[in-house]
Amino acid sequence: MGFWEKLRAFFGGQAAGEKKPRAPRTQPTDPDALWLHFRCKRCGSVVRVRAHKRNDLNRIEEEEALPGVFVLHKDVMDNKCFQLMHADIYFDASYQVVSADVQGGELISQEEYEAAQQPSATPRGA
Ligand SMILES: [Zn+2]
Repeated sequence: MGFWEKLRAFFGGQAAGEKKPRAPRTQPTDPDALWLHFRCKRCGSVVRVRAHKRNDLNRIEEEEALPGVFVLHKDVMDNKCFQLMHADIYFDASYQVVSADVQGGELISQEEYEAAQQPSATPRGA
């Protein structure tokens, strides 16, 4: 890559002839979908899980004295070390995460997930 291409890439432009690296972010509208992102504590790989607001979330009873309005119990498995993560995610009435308890992993943001998806230290076709 020449100096000017580097400079252009640095300022957010695309190098000439470069194809779009991935599909546009617009996904089919799926109002009942909740996307959750996890990172495995053992191998560090990231997993994306789709939950259904109505099917997968349980309303929290008052006597349970738990945070939030809904709870999601999910077993999540990454595709690298296949360790099962046990997640209890608590949501408020607008389906925002208020608390998360993940055994064997951690809840991460979509940004962290996407950052982890970037090709890392493995150069191709060098
Ligand atoms: Zn793992």
